[in-house]
Amino acid sequence: MTAKKIKTAFITGISGQDGAYLSKLLHEKDYKIIGITRNNHSDSLEKLKFFKIEQFVIMEECDLLDISSVLNLVKKYNPDEIYNLAAQSSVGLSFKQPIGTINFNIISVLNLLEAIRLVKNDIRFYQASSSEMFGKVSNLPVHINTPMHPLSPYAISKASAHWIVVNYRESYSLFACNGVLFNHESYLRSNSFFVKKVLQETVKNRDKSDWTLKVGNIDIKRDFGYSPNYVQAMWLMLQKNDPEDFIICSGKSITLRSIIEYVFKKLNVSLDRLVIDNDLMRPTDIEDIYGDNTPAKVKLGWDYNLDFYEVLDLLIEEELSFFSKSSNN
Ligand code: NDP
Repeated sequence: MTAKKIKTAFITGISGQDGAYLSKLLHEKDYKIIGITRNNHSDSLEKLKFFKIEQFVIMEECDLLDISSVLNLVKKYNPDEIYNLAAQSSVGLSFKQPIGTINFNIISVLNLLEAIRLVKNDIRFYQASSSEMFGKVSNLPVHINTPMHPLSPYAISKASAHWIVVNYRESYSLFACNGVLFNHESYLRSNSFFVKKVLQETVKNRDKSDWTLKVGNIDIKRDFGYSPNYVQAMWLMLQKNDPEDFIICSGKSITLRSIIEYVFKKLNVSLDRLVIDNDLMRPTDIEDIYGDNTPAKVKLGWDYNLDFYEVLDLLIEEELSFFSKSSNN
């Protein structure tokens, strides 16, 4: 009997939300995991520690903008799969840092694909593409061939990266694919993102009489899902026989306002605490967007049927439980 080959995976952006959930999934599948970060300090491991898996990940510091460093890392580990999750991932911040966002989010992808092409062209590559690149859409739901009209520097960077992946697949027959993910949340989401901000601030401050929740345009609609399920789709995409791009989403959109109303009601907070802050408005924004997840369900066997209010129930519970633990320490 031949022993099962242990696969090696790179996860760039491992210190982020999806990096942690994907590491947990790949660890359960017995992968050797190489975690790539810009700067290896104790904070990089914080989200891996949440699952107590930090000791199973080999951390490597790498500047993905430097092709030599990327080439050396690929040569050193000879990975089977690369999950490219590293990015300046905030739409809002991209308006403040357009050059840094566009530079990093595009060149890092090119460097990784060049390294694959030059060193070992059978490495399977997953790119964290984003629904934001579709922007202003006239026909919903979004399909993989829906025309793009990006509305932010972040969206432009992700659209360019998306087409670079398609181009490397078509030009060099690489196994490279885009997972076009719509918004997905979890307890591990960074504090600056909308759903996490609402949950964290409300749980922490709801008893303070002078607290208000400051928000921008909350009448926009988004298609929200749950991160642990979305990282499964990333893995499934790299196990297929042929590379293909997929839309990963819940299939429904809801307003940001309805999320706040739901959370406030659950936590017994008055809507008088809500303040619209014009400084938080974006120069341009998507009004409504949701996608069609049928191809992912049919071709990948991806299983997702969660309503976002069910996800919110989970997140509220987690936020309350970790808040009370931290207050008691
Ligand atoms: P996070 O922001 O939580 O993590 C991204 C990681 O990228 C960071 O932890 C950081 O790690 C690394 N990074 C590398 N370069 C930069 C940079 N210039 N600025 C900031 N961070 C950088 O993202 P998520 O885990 O939520 O998302 C993973 C990927 O999926 C991202 O590419 C994101 O754009 C994309 N995506 C996410 C969606 C979502 O709803 N979460 C929706 C659609 C796409 P370090 O500092 O250790 O290098």
